[in-house]
Amino acid sequence: MSAPRFVVQRHRARNLHYDFRIELGGVLVSWAVPKGPTLDPAVRRAAFRVEDHDLDYYDFEGVIAGGQYGSGDVIVWDAGTWETPDDADRALENGELHLDLHGEKLRGRFVLIHTRTAANGKQEWLLLHKRDEYAIDGWDPEAHPRSVLTGRTNEDVRHHRPGRRGAADR
Ligand code: MN
Repeated sequence: MSAPRFVVQRHRARNLHYDFRIELGGVLVSWAVPKGPTLDPAVRRAAFRVEDHDLDYYDFEGVIAGGQYGSGDVIVWDAGTWETPDDADRALENGELHLDLHGEKLRGRFVLIHTRTAANGKQEWLLLHKRDEYAIDGWDPEAHPRSVLTGRTNEDVRHHRPGRRGAADR
């Protein structure tokens, strides 16, 4: 069996956020990360668990029509494979998941930690990068704004500008 995949989509909806999704159990288990993931090991990002998505959504890039929930433009900001040294289902259940990401932008050891569940059931997690060989102090996801699929920015997608494969930044 091939390694499970992960994807991060930069989504300009009502509020900008990054959708962090990992392939697990036949779905994309998902978190919304308002400030985006970072390689900076000094930073902890809030991550809100959101509904699982179908695997079909893995490489979705485009415009979600106005009026719908989540309407706005989406790019595939990063993609690759992931693995964990632990039992993934149990780690998720226990609220501490260690992930080694093999993406184009995101590499190395990340940790997702469930910190609290709000009264409305919304799960709040933290996403952080460990201090390892891939850590970069001060690394800002917003400084790496292009799709790894097409090289496009969210603005390009909004205006339906064509992209090209292999044009992505890192
Ligand atoms: Mn979203």
